Amino acid sequence: MKKTYDCIIVGGGIAGLQAAIQLGRYEHDILVVDANDGRSAICRCYHNLLGWPDGVSGEQLRSLGRKQAESYGVEFQSDRIVNARKDKGEFILDGKDGNHYVARKLLLATGVKDNIPKIKYLDPCLGLSVYVCPDCDGYEVKGKKVVILGSGETGAGMALTLNYWSDDIIFINHESNEVSEETKAELKEKNIGYEEGIISEAIVEDESGFKGVLLDNGEVITGERGFIAFGGNKVHTELAEQLGVHIMDNKHINADARSKETNVENVWAAGDIVAHSEQVSTAMGDGSIAAIWIHKKLLAERNS
Ligand SMILES: Cc1cc2nc3c(=O)[nH]c(=O)nc-3n(C[C@H](O)[C@H](O)[C@H](O)COP(=O)(O)OP(=O)(O)OC[C@H]3O[C@@H](n4cnc5c(N)ncnc54)[C@H](O)[C@@H]3O)c2cc1C
Repeated sequence: MKKTYDCIIVGGGIAGLQAAIQLGRYEHDILVVDANDGRSAICRCYHNLLGWPDGVSGEQLRSLGRKQAESYGVEFQSDRIVNARKDKGEFILDGKDGNHYVARKLLLATGVKDNIPKIKYLDPCLGLSVYVCPDCDGYEVKGKKVVILGSGETGAGMALTLNYWSDDIIFINHESNEVSEETKAELKEKNIGYEEGIISEAIVEDESGFKGVLLDNGEVITGERGFIAFGGNKVHTELAEQLGVHIMDNKHINADARSKETNVENVWAAGDIVAHSEQVSTAMGDGSIAAIWIHKKLLAERNS
């Protein structure tokens, strides 16, 4: 007989961990199932968080969050949920290796996966000298020479956005995806360099200090900071879709602003899968809000 949890949280990133801490403190029976391959697993430094003026890595936040949640009795399972369904008022989740998990309430905190082509030596720079989000890290490139590792209109758009912080930018259009003549003219007008080619590796000093890129034609383009903008990020709403959650045209979930519950009763969504700014502080806020309303429902059911 499978244990039925009060709530299963799918995704043990920032939103999932914050929700786990909050739900653990209500002393509910909580399981977090996590595949450990999200944004918080790859970002080596967050710079814009209250209380961390020198930055904190995703790994550190995750490890602290897990310890904190475990101290309240929250259980953790390393797995990837591949199927979710509702049966007689309970949610049944199937893991990739055949494990099954059962819960009364479900919180989806499965995040977004960035589309980053395999570029040698790039990964250790993520969050330290190469970034993905101008709202998070635009400040980090202030007055610096920036190389945009990007593609098509998405890369060009990033170059134009970063022009707020730097007037020394070059956009490398990896694999030469289409950029309109109008956009090219705008780049030129703003003195933003434009080059087409295939980026074969990042040039890196001391393991994580971005210094530029090497193209497959042998050309070296130097820079002090990198920004990634290839487009095509994957919003992990597969499970939500299986349960009938409404997915917006922009591929995100429009959860209720007050409770974070979705259009499917007893299914909540938090973090980057929800339609709003994709940031750590937002994900934490979502996780807390969802947990409070999950608790309210569990309590109401217990008292009815
Ligand atoms: C390079 C980089 C730099 C960044 N810098 C900043 C910054 O400076 N400041 C800032 O505020 N934000 C920054 N961000 C964004 C920030 O990381 C995200 O907003 C945050 O991680 C969102 O939290 P989340 O819990 O929604 O998703 P995540 O942290 O991505 O966690 C989602 C979790 O769900 C798991 N998962 C997904 N599907 C399944 C499944 N089917 N079964 C089980 N588990 C599953 C994943 O493995 C993952 O562990 C950065 C992101 C990147 C990539």
